Amino acid sequence: MPDVAQITVSPARIAELTALIRATGPETRTTVTPLTGADVATVPVSTEQDVLDAFAAARVAQRAWARTSLRRRKRALLKLHDLILKNREELLDLVQLESGKARSHAFDEVLHTALTGRYYGRRLSRILGPHRIAGAYPVLTGIRQYHQPKGVVGLITPWNYPLSMALVDGLAAVAAGNAVVHKPDSQAPLTALAIIQLMHRAGFPKDLWQVVSGAGSVIGSTIIANADYICFTGSTATGKRIAAQCSERLIGCSLELGGKNPMIVLPGADVEKTVEGTINAAFSSAGQLCVSIERIYVHESIYDQYRDALAERLERLSYGANADWEAEMGTLVSPAQLATIEKHVADAIDHGATVVSGGRARPDIAPWFHEPTVLENVPESALCSAEETFGPLVSLYPYRGVGEAIALANSTIYGLNASVWGPVRRARKVAPKIQAGTVNVNEGFAATFGSIGAPMGGMKQSGTGRRQGAEGLLRFTESQSIGVQRLVPVGGPPQLSKRTFTAVLTVGLVLMRRLTRKA
Ligand code: NAD
Repeated sequence: MPDVAQITVSPARIAELTALIRATGPETRTTVTPLTGADVATVPVSTEQDVLDAFAAARVAQRAWARTSLRRRKRALLKLHDLILKNREELLDLVQLESGKARSHAFDEVLHTALTGRYYGRRLSRILGPHRIAGAYPVLTGIRQYHQPKGVVGLITPWNYPLSMALVDGLAAVAAGNAVVHKPDSQAPLTALAIIQLMHRAGFPKDLWQVVSGAGSVIGSTIIANADYICFTGSTATGKRIAAQCSERLIGCSLELGGKNPMIVLPGADVEKTVEGTINAAFSSAGQLCVSIERIYVHESIYDQYRDALAERLERLSYGANADWEAEMGTLVSPAQLATIEKHVADAIDHGATVVSGGRARPDIAPWFHEPTVLENVPESALCSAEETFGPLVSLYPYRGVGEAIALANSTIYGLNASVWGPVRRARKVAPKIQAGTVNVNEGFAATFGSIGAPMGGMKQSGTGRRQGAEGLLRFTESQSIGVQRLVPVGGPPQLSKRTFTAVLTVGLVLMRRLTRKA
């Protein structure tokens, strides 16, 4: 029985959750908790036939769901919001158990998911329409734009935010009238399963959200071969493979991928507040967050002061691989993650970087725990200079001019998130010059990430498409324009010759342009 680090989930409860996976074969996989390395669950692995069955059941459920009123869908979304908050303790336990993050960071996921339900619950009709659009002829042509669901969405999610990454996209997909076949990461399926139970209680039909389990490299192709749209969150390398497979079938996909996110600290920034903000920006979920900051450019006038204050603050940072609300950082998720961080730190030091703070694994805290680590003098040749580390590792760089800082921030193949600290008017001018899907002023990532109405996603190799906001919902729909022509055909009344009709039309167009000159 997992009874680790103040978190207890009974075997019966785990069995109840894993039974929700569509899997009939004999193969199973054991998951472990990064909090202690102990076994957590025996998870059944889906066969190819299970994936096909999941699509078949999802298609039946989707046809009925697409006919339900928006009012019913809104009710279910808002009820889910309430149920998530009511059942937050179990969700927090499961997120921590599967990801090893600090409890307060697990709460970010609960909050993000509840807010997503509320946002789409409140705005569904406004976003989905139908919307009236000006037609070819005023009064005579009536156009309405509809947003039809795509059908069955294949949802592939990573381990780092097992709750939030599944629901922020999946809820938008079902709100738009789709069904979902979801493949959570093999390391973290329980959290998604618990929320699906809550979805059933909230009024979403049973077969609408199917969960399959297994390695992406094994069942991923079957998902892509059967879905009407793919929504993927994960690494850029996998995203490219998925995009290639989607293009073969000419189905759309949204890809939320990696980043090497920069922060610029402007002259005049409040150093104390910036240091506090850096803790959250770089070390939330132990840096295993797509929008986490990994490169920090600090104006030379305050560089030393900022670096020393950050090192001092990190000495006081409270770690914990347990359910303690006061822990400011939890552990890494796996030995593979720890190996990457250790490799990046050792390689940077070999290339001449110096350690400002941290730099060591800490198995005394949890088996794969690594100290939050700050480096300086990192040369371009070091791996961590350009590659995503996806862990608690940041590099500091001094700069002279703001133009130089912007150029450095943009000198990456990625473009997911960025952060600018300093006087707001100045920071606002810098922000749009950074090539990133979200830019946060005097925050690391939370201002945009926590605002569900704000579209979020990557420029350059950080992805395609946007989650959150209207865009996050509309990507799961096909836009359909329905035009109604009244009284006169678009080609002109039959009693007028083509010559007369085109002459009348030309005069009409000239007059219309004059009348609407100011518009
Ligand atoms: P990953 O690409 O290895 O795996 C992500 C998911 O894809 C998993 O469920 C995995 O099983 C599946 N998968 C793997 N190969 C597949 C294939 N060939 N076909 C179909 N599915 C396949 O990524 P990861 O290491 O689990 O996650 C970390 C990465 O995710 C980081 O690069 C991080 O930046 C990125 N990420 C991005 C966002 C975002 O919103 N942009 C959010 C979270 C994580």
